[in-house]
Amino acid sequence: MPQPAVPAPHSTFSEGTVVRATGSWYDVQTADQVVPSRVRGKFRLDQTDTTNPVVVGDRVTVRLEPDDTGLITEIHPRRNKLSRRAAGRRVGLEHILVANIDQAWCIQAVRKPKLNPGFIDRFLVMAEIHEIPAGLILNKIDLLRPQDEDYIGYWCDLYLDLGYPVLPISAKTGENLDAFAEVLTEQVSVVAGPSGAGKSTLLNTIDPSLNLRTSHVSERTQKGRHTTTAASLHALANGGFVVDTPGVREFGIVDLEPDELDYYFREFRPYLGNCHFPNCTHDHEPGCAVKEAVEAEAITEDRYVSYLNILFTLHLGDADVGR
Ligand code: GDP
Ligand code: ZN
Repeated sequence: MPQPAVPAPHSTFSEGTVVRATGSWYDVQTADQVVPSRVRGKFRLDQTDTTNPVVVGDRVTVRLEPDDTGLITEIHPRRNKLSRRAAGRRVGLEHILVANIDQAWCIQAVRKPKLNPGFIDRFLVMAEIHEIPAGLILNKIDLLRPQDEDYIGYWCDLYLDLGYPVLPISAKTGENLDAFAEVLTEQVSVVAGPSGAGKSTLLNTIDPSLNLRTSHVSERTQKGRHTTTAASLHALANGGFVVDTPGVREFGIVDLEPDELDYYFREFRPYLGNCHFPNCTHDHEPGCAVKEAVEAEAITEDRYVSYLNILFTLHLGDADVGR
């Protein structure tokens, strides 16, 4: 005899991703809805080293309440996170901006605005620090003139040789946009680029429901608001999320000692440890294996100059991506 159906359990649980955090409320995107949720007090007490117990990007279990809100009962382990110190550089609590990022794409235009390799390298260092796979999107290829081809080709090859994927596209003509949509599918992606590179246009084109602003808030007005800015996730129509932050400054290189920087230039790694001075910064020191590799053209001059530029900003105590 068939058993009678098990009565619905008193509580229903669902799994989802935190897409937005506002005060003590968290929007959790489950398979079929966004559930405004609160968090069990226990998480606040358990976590004493961060400012926020639940962060955007967290995978969570929510208990669905009769009033259509949720209670976050479990936070799944984080695979990675982008964070900045809540107060000061070395002291204070950690403020996590977003967790569980699958990939990071730097969006640049081939022209208008001009390709900015310094931005790309700071972005790649950020990705290397957090162990997030990264690549380069080259937008506006419809604007490429014959006389630009050598220059753009040079930079494409440089990043490809380093092992970073490069995807040339045009939001205007639609060229390679299907490939761009494809790489974002089912992934949590950080997408950042200089203002005007076409980030908003691109994302709106692949998913018009996003309806992103296509004129950016000035970088200048973002200054000094680091601890109050919050990231959010945009759910893409065909699965996956794009991380939205009020500005790219959030992805600055923070909490890095100058002597740690070399490791995040991946092509420097084979030479590290071979310098005459163990704490060599590869700047002015004699017997430097990195400088020898630059002379032997095993490391490109351009990347070495980028390294020195970032090193300099680290000495100043500020190396944000967005400059
Ligand atoms: P964002 O600051 O990176 O978000 O850039 P926007 O999306 O606001 O785009 C800046 C300008 O570039 C807008 O006028 C867009 O219409 C234009 N734009 C974006 N993508 C392309 C493209 O592939 N080709 C051309 N020619 N213009 C583009
Ligand atoms: Zn050295």
